[in-house]
Amino acid sequence: MRIATLLFILVFTSSFVAGPPIVDKKIIKDDLPFLVEFYKTRHKNPEISLQEKGTSKALATELRKVGFTVTENFGGYGIVGVFKNGNGPTILYRTDMDALPMYEKTDLAYQSQLKATLNGEEVGTMHSCGHDIHMTTWLGTARAMVAMKDKWKGTLLLIGQPAEEIGAGAKMMLEAGLYQKFGVPNYGLGLHSSPTLPAGKVGIGKGFVMASSQSVDINVYGVGSHGASPHMSIDPIVLSSMLVMELQTIVSRNVKPTESAVVTVGTIRGGTVGNIIPDMVTLKLTVRSFKEEVLEVVNKRIKEIARGVGIAAGLPEDKMPEVIIREAGPANFNNPAMTSRVIQSATSAIGKENVIDEEPVMLSEDFSYYGQTEHKVPTVFYWLGTVPDARMKKGDLPGLHSPFYYPQPEISLETGVTVTSQALMDLFNTKM
Ligand SMILES: [Zn+2]
Ligand SMILES: [Zn+2]
Repeated sequence: MRIATLLFILVFTSSFVAGPPIVDKKIIKDDLPFLVEFYKTRHKNPEISLQEKGTSKALATELRKVGFTVTENFGGYGIVGVFKNGNGPTILYRTDMDALPMYEKTDLAYQSQLKATLNGEEVGTMHSCGHDIHMTTWLGTARAMVAMKDKWKGTLLLIGQPAEEIGAGAKMMLEAGLYQKFGVPNYGLGLHSSPTLPAGKVGIGKGFVMASSQSVDINVYGVGSHGASPHMSIDPIVLSSMLVMELQTIVSRNVKPTESAVVTVGTIRGGTVGNIIPDMVTLKLTVRSFKEEVLEVVNKRIKEIARGVGIAAGLPEDKMPEVIIREAGPANFNNPAMTSRVIQSATSAIGKENVIDEEPVMLSEDFSYYGQTEHKVPTVFYWLGTVPDARMKKGDLPGLHSPFYYPQPEISLETGVTVTSQALMDLFNTKM
């Protein structure tokens, strides 16, 4: 059915309905064939971070078709769609657009065969983080909200964000002047595909839901020598081994037991062959936590332990391990009042049994930036269940970024559009 026809029926029938606005599930169901097709096209054509040219074009084109004013290439390939619908709050709803540089191994009929170039090398491309589901849910919600525009008043601010996987896109769009140019929203909403929740359910947590993420590099120096003359060396491999073990005590001994943090050494590189003691080893770490003060403790201890190990090895001052701490992406905090409202919306839309109180995770997501500017926009980021029934029953649950991950499109999209539209509609009609 065409949107115009749907709109007519809706306007006609809604004048007889009293009480808080409820999403019209028929509008969403009737739009599903279109959305599933759109989803499969996106899944087949993934573009990696900072290369989302065709993807953003497709989204911009579809938004314009339903009446949004669209700005393209805003902060990289970012797009901003505005739909003004009378006086009311402004609500930001964001999707990310990028895929990952990896080969898909799902064997789906619509699996990605595309390749891209990354740092001069050919790589596969795959939507293994479900950003194709996010984009299609976002487009479906835009279409549904326009079709139901007599049920709400305000401005819908839709963000198509590039480069989420490298933690850069949200910052790029904010630094391009997102809030200065399009206004500071009253609320911000976002969602992420869940690789553990069944399609048809959503997970919504209150407070901290995703961690802040920080990279740390440590260069461990030493004095190289022949592998047979270790007494002539200060061996950075032995030193690094001690350092890796010592770092394990930060979470167990220095972080308050009621708080949480992760310190993971993800790579350790040094040396070339067995009979040479090298003069340098590099370690790369990821550090996760929810709170600023916990992160400070972790960073302080990383520096102290690195220096301590250097002193114990007898390194001179100019060869002490070098700790390079990179800027941390903030944690995602679900504003409690707004979260309560969104939980009510989801419950009324898909039933209490399908709304899960989800635990926080140490993954991170740069959606957090939208709520961390000086304006402190209240935000909610929720999990959209995507796991197909058969996989759920078998317990076959590949995680995000796995080459085997894929969502069940129909149910995930229907649930995503229904819950998001209901949440937006309720927020447009709520005074907080
Ligand atoms: Zn991801
Ligand atoms: Zn993601």
